[in-house]
Amino acid sequence: MIATFAAVSLIAACSGNGNGGAEGGDAAGYPEQNITVVVPFSAGGPTDTVTRMIADPMAKALGGKIVVQNVEGAGGTVAAGQVAQARPDGYTVLMHHIGMSTAPALYKDLGYQPLEDFATVGLVTEVPMTVVARKDFPPTTLADLTTYVKANSAKVTLANAGIGAASHLCGLLFQAAAGVKLQEVPYQGTGPALTDLVGGQVDFMCDQTTNTTGQISAGKVKAYAVTTPERVKSLPDVPTTAEAGMPQLAVSVWHGLYVPTGTPPEIVQKLSGALKTALADQAVIDQMAKLGTAPVAAADATPEAHRAHLEEQLTTWAKVISDAGVKAS
Ligand code: ASP
Repeated sequence: MIATFAAVSLIAACSGNGNGGAEGGDAAGYPEQNITVVVPFSAGGPTDTVTRMIADPMAKALGGKIVVQNVEGAGGTVAAGQVAQARPDGYTVLMHHIGMSTAPALYKDLGYQPLEDFATVGLVTEVPMTVVARKDFPPTTLADLTTYVKANSAKVTLANAGIGAASHLCGLLFQAAAGVKLQEVPYQGTGPALTDLVGGQVDFMCDQTTNTTGQISAGKVKAYAVTTPERVKSLPDVPTTAEAGMPQLAVSVWHGLYVPTGTPPEIVQKLSGALKTALADQAVIDQMAKLGTAPVAAADATPEAHRAHLEEQLTTWAKVISDAGVKAS
């Protein structure tokens, strides 16, 4: 099992029958049309990057075509809500991350239920996060950062990808560990947030290595720590949060594929099989390694392992979020 720590016309056109299995697609000939994989954050960000890495090899394995579509908003919940309502025929797939397990505890009226409204296809990858700042932000270490933000809490800005996003969650953990409340600046994804960080419009944020590695290596942003117990091979000079004195800041961002409940099991199995094939593709493995991550084991790229992980994570994050006393609405 995976390690754990603490606009879209096409969808609208396909939507409307919720969970009706009877209207599920024809499994035998699947796929007979393009499959849309919905990414709940901006193009160019980490979730988008991982999705585009696996899209072509999955499409090849399925003998079809995959179109990646970015449906932004509300920390990934707009996209999840749309896919939950899509026709369960295997032609609308959601790529989501840890946010699938945090949103129910954060939003009062989410409009979907992860375990009821989705069938899990398989886990994809688990990505470390980094704590990064604009290049000229004064603190030089994580300990300095803590001291600095406490002394300057009224003016420091912390970027994230909206409530329930991984960056939001990591920012919450940071603020709880540092004992400070900061001004948060929500974006539609950490792709644009990182652009603003490089440009100096925001001060710091947490984000996946799949987005930050290039900018850290190029010296365009300052990296304080990685949020995993081990250092990340592609970023050998960046200490872990534990090494840097903040072991409570421990989170890594798991990703999985979902289809609406009622999708025929044979189609879910075809998608899962294609996912496994994509994750075994050497080019995918190499691209992920460069960005500090790796595909999950084949046994985790299954509906069963994914569902078990989702169940466990829903419980884990409900407690963390309730202890932190945060709500989105
Ligand atoms: N890294 C973002 C997050 O905070 C999501 C994204 O833009 O892919 O969850």
